[in-house]
Amino acid sequence: MAGPIEFSGIGLHTGEQSSLRVLPAPAGKGIVFRRVDLDNFELRADVASVARVAYATTLMSRGVWISTVEHLLSALYGTGIDNAYIELDNFEVPILDGSAFPYTEAIARAGIVRQRALRQYIRITKPFVLKEGDKTLGIYPSDTFTIKYDIDFPHPLIGKQSLEVQLRGANYAQHIAPARTFGFYHEVEKLQAGGLIRGGSLENAIVLTEKGMLNDISLRFPDEFVRHKTLDLLGDFALIGQPVLGSLVANRAGHALHTRFVAELLESTSHWALDTAAEASVSSAR
Ligand SMILES: [Zn+2]
Repeated sequence: MAGPIEFSGIGLHTGEQSSLRVLPAPAGKGIVFRRVDLDNFELRADVASVARVAYATTLMSRGVWISTVEHLLSALYGTGIDNAYIELDNFEVPILDGSAFPYTEAIARAGIVRQRALRQYIRITKPFVLKEGDKTLGIYPSDTFTIKYDIDFPHPLIGKQSLEVQLRGANYAQHIAPARTFGFYHEVEKLQAGGLIRGGSLENAIVLTEKGMLNDISLRFPDEFVRHKTLDLLGDFALIGQPVLGSLVANRAGHALHTRFVAELLESTSHWALDTAAEASVSSAR
């Protein structure tokens, strides 16, 4: 892209204003946050930095934290960007419209540059599955990277939804990125009392009531909910730090299971192998 891509807005949980810029980074650097308000303190987007995963994913290193990273990391991973610096001037990534669409739109406008390095993949060689109560997350050998997600919420607008998508070309930008965050109106007070969703509004979330939703605009997809769950999963899965060849299958998972899954998969070295494909690695800018 001709220059960095820039965004600003309020954080979903803190309600604080912040600005961020995504800049190109050299091959092999990975995705690195920089707190420009703290002398460019650097924090790598990897699973070792995960601090808290209640209603959003927070990274922390030496007492410095960055919260609600999952939609931005999802957009970068979903569009195949391996290396980028993310400059942020506060501790929470802005929520924007509650989806990853503003990111994928800006990335498409800016363009992606192929770098002169071989792209290293994690190739899944043996199934790896984690269960937590009625939640399941697994990954299986495959020559491509695909995600299948199933949810079942007892709500008239949701019910059973299932999505399967192969992460290639514009599939992420078209089918996953536009899906917005959702929450339940009856949980708003409890969450706010816990210091959460202070920046939440109908501008950045679908708010579900007992029988419908508060928003007076229509859903972006009839199954927007399972698409957003897929968006969130991919944002947490991005903490694996490398592209993956495997088929990811989720059933009612959540941030805590996602990040535990990535950490345990990385440690389970008999389930995967590094594979260097004769394809260039990619960055966010030229
Ligand atoms: Zn989300």
